[in-house]
Amino acid sequence: MALTLEDLTFDNRFTHDLPGDPAELNRPRQVHNAAYSFVEPTPTSSPQLLAHSAEVLADLGLAPEVAATDEFLRVFSGNATLVGMEPYAACYGGHQFGNWAGQLGDGRAIALGEIVTDAGVRHTLQLKGAGPTPYSRTADGLAVLRSSVREFLCSEAMFHLGVPTTRALSLTTTGDRVMRDMFYDGNPEWERGAVVCRVAPSFIRFGNFELPMSRDDTDLLRALADHTISLHFPDIADGRNSGFTTDDYVEWFAEVARRTADMIVHWQRVGFVHGVMNTDNMSIHGLTIDYGPYGWLENYDPGRTPNTTDRQFKRYRFGAQPHIGQWNVTQLANAIYPLVGDVDPLQEALTAYVDVFNHDWPRMMAAKLGIAEFDESRDPDLIHALLEQLPTIETDMTVFFRCLADVPTSTDASDDERLAAVAEADYDPTQRTGDSRDLLAAWLRDWSARVREAGRADAARSAAMNAVNPKFVLRNYLAQLAIDDADKGDPALISELLDVLRRPYAEQPGKERFAQKRPEWARVRPGCSMLSCSS
Ligand code: AMP
Ligand code: MG
Repeated sequence: MALTLEDLTFDNRFTHDLPGDPAELNRPRQVHNAAYSFVEPTPTSSPQLLAHSAEVLADLGLAPEVAATDEFLRVFSGNATLVGMEPYAACYGGHQFGNWAGQLGDGRAIALGEIVTDAGVRHTLQLKGAGPTPYSRTADGLAVLRSSVREFLCSEAMFHLGVPTTRALSLTTTGDRVMRDMFYDGNPEWERGAVVCRVAPSFIRFGNFELPMSRDDTDLLRALADHTISLHFPDIADGRNSGFTTDDYVEWFAEVARRTADMIVHWQRVGFVHGVMNTDNMSIHGLTIDYGPYGWLENYDPGRTPNTTDRQFKRYRFGAQPHIGQWNVTQLANAIYPLVGDVDPLQEALTAYVDVFNHDWPRMMAAKLGIAEFDESRDPDLIHALLEQLPTIETDMTVFFRCLADVPTSTDASDDERLAAVAEADYDPTQRTGDSRDLLAAWLRDWSARVREAGRADAARSAAMNAVNPKFVLRNYLAQLAIDDADKGDPALISELLDVLRRPYAEQPGKERFAQKRPEWARVRPGCSMLSCSS
């Protein structure tokens, strides 16, 4: 057990296995034939720890007291490095909003190194917002408090919801001020700077493979793929570090496609909208990564995107995420084509994405409805009938599915009794009249008949539903309230939210206020309803 920071075992395979940038100049530039550039975090003036994740600390094998040490604060705010750390920024490209953007890279992320725990688990530690790198382009390499609070809380919330995600170890403020024009409307303001330490098996993205492919650098492409497979896909590597066959590359790609589809099924289950599904924001592990202008569905609306930068075309709206995931894995297929040299097997492997999604999504939706045994002949109609009517009047997604577990299903229950059980989900109950009332009443009758027929006891069914339909999610306005307080110097709400979001499926007496649908004031408030990429 690595009780103290000094006990951590570093094994920096990314930088050891792969070619680095020979130039040590920390200035924005194009970096060729290299997977990364060594770069030191920029020290900050007066760092303060606002929050940390006790679970991530334990995963790293660290004792709980470590978080309270001065050294923890210094290391995870970018003011000191531990022996064994070799900080670097990764070089990658990506498709942004559907267009090839060339080299992007870690513009404000600096990986500190990879640790291996006693159990043999590998974690890369990465600071976000710790200063400029050769990939910062025209920006400053910094992050502001609001976006750091959002990333910290959401990665932990997603983990506890059971959604594949990168994790967050710590959230510190830097004591330095950062200039941001939050809505790109000519009104820049000084904001507090912050640093989040993120943790994941690696931060390798689809874009890491796309960039060398775009530059015809097959050697680097192969080195990256071999590193990724041998270290992170042991079932495919089967003990090898290199010498992979075209079949191995195809099998690896199919696995990435499957994991990506699985991740997106989870997003659709909990109502998460990523907001910027560019290929540089797609993890090779199928983890949710890069929490920026993400949002949670409040009223169920498949057309919803929280990202104002995407307002015009809504490319990354909730309902488009499954299709965009497929588009993104197609870009990964293109990127590794030089390793395979044949379109057909890649095309074939791409169907893995569609197969997983088409198999898992309806079963996930059926589980949300309390149907354990999905029946292909009729459940799709039941699911689609609900999803078609939910957006007709504003209905809170999380509250609706949670309430559904308590709707009386017996034949002698009346429409009014059933409707009353889900009424709390309506943003404006006066609109639940005419068609919207009749259609929902009819749907609840059909649904009741379906679950009655399945024959599961009510208590068992509602427990199963409550295990997939969360009560507590990081509602947009809750994150904003925590930001408002933290900005005034009070991090208490961050801790309280972190704690509530640890048990998102449990009833938590006394914490009901965190399960309330969006209050009216939050409908138009920046940060609650609208976010931009400025962070
Ligand atoms: P994103 O879409 O937020 O993941 O960012 C796209 C690209 O812009 C990535 O290469 C980021 O590293 C870079 N980037 C975003 N914000 C900053 C910043 N403040 N300073 C430097 N680079 C940034
Ligand atoms: Mg990114």
